[in-house]
Amino acid sequence: MKAYERLIKYAKIHTASSEEGSETPSTSRQFDLANALAEEMKQIGMTGVYVDGHCYVYGVIEADKGYENVTPTGFLAHIDTVPDFPGENVCPRIIENYDGGDIALSDSGRVLSPADFPHLEKLKGKTLIVTDGKTVLGADDKAGVAEIMTAAERIIKEKIPHGRVSVCFCPDEEIGHGAALLDLGRFGAELGYTVDGGALADIEYENFNAAGAEVLFRGKNVHPGGAKNTMINAALLAMEFNSMLPSADVPSLTEGYEGFFHLTEMSGAVDSAKLSYIIRDHDENTFRARKKCMEHIAKTMNEKYGEGTVTLNIKEQYRNMIEMVKPRFEVVEKAFEAARSLGLEPTASPIRGGTDGAQLSFRGLPCPNLPTGSYGHHGPYEHAVCEDMDVCTDLIINIIRCYANDKK
Ligand SMILES: [Zn+2]
Repeated sequence: MKAYERLIKYAKIHTASSEEGSETPSTSRQFDLANALAEEMKQIGMTGVYVDGHCYVYGVIEADKGYENVTPTGFLAHIDTVPDFPGENVCPRIIENYDGGDIALSDSGRVLSPADFPHLEKLKGKTLIVTDGKTVLGADDKAGVAEIMTAAERIIKEKIPHGRVSVCFCPDEEIGHGAALLDLGRFGAELGYTVDGGALADIEYENFNAAGAEVLFRGKNVHPGGAKNTMINAALLAMEFNSMLPSADVPSLTEGYEGFFHLTEMSGAVDSAKLSYIIRDHDENTFRARKKCMEHIAKTMNEKYGEGTVTLNIKEQYRNMIEMVKPRFEVVEKAFEAARSLGLEPTASPIRGGTDGAQLSFRGLPCPNLPTGSYGHHGPYEHAVCEDMDVCTDLIINIIRCYANDKK
């Protein structure tokens, strides 16, 4: 079975996660795909197949005879789709020999257009899978699931030499819990790869350092008619705070390695006000400086208006995996080598977000991110490219080959 055929099959199983759920998985429907995958893993000959109570699916391809000393590797993808756009009744449509132009997404009124997605021009002549404009496709990350499954099947069927390869499909990545409960002991890999990226042949091993900041402002409310030299308007304090942040360091004006402060929510009146931010930067030092900058503004305002006027709470969220990947950089080099063996020129763009792999890296499993050959994630314009999915599958197989080549 080809990877894209698997994607179409998996896409039809509703697996949206939910921000509401307090347990893992956040939605029990994720078990529908988890159980189906476990069945399929057994059918293709994987061992140790297991779905745990939190909806993680584990499976292993044991090392070939003579390859027991090869570094054990693992491949991961997530089974959930985004909670904030419909993921039920997905109707994937195949477009053969794409002409490079606009694609009307059924009768939804939505059009997938190169004007919005310039990479489409380069996909001319390829086979696309698109939505009907009413749901996500779920290629994020069912394309990754499909490619791992297809690679596993081929490794076993075609008797491709391999060390121990483990597979795990995780729930709830889209709500940030994807790797939290993964049992690394059971997984048993030394180096891992999430297959949750986009374009060929981008191999991602740097992500943001991330923190959230909540800023509370306490005002002093008196009758506005007699407020001279007395009133402190908390809403204005909030505006003052924000005005002291570097105004060009916002998501809409930054790219690549440029970090930002992102105001995600504001509320306020005279009495009290609140601002919520996320802080992002790839560079550890600049990241620290950003947090310092906020602390300095809070301190300055407290000196001006009185202690306790501004309360700043910064919460660390996740860190750049580069720190953990560097000491085992072969995990990246092997992926580059595998990409080159397929005639691809690998690139390495910094992820402007986090991945399950970032968390896993800090738990001891260095874990860069591989491409899936799908685009436009998290909305109705999501699409996958069948030929690129084949290449992504080959990439997984060749990474496994590269490790096997090192056998002692
Ligand atoms: Zn994803």
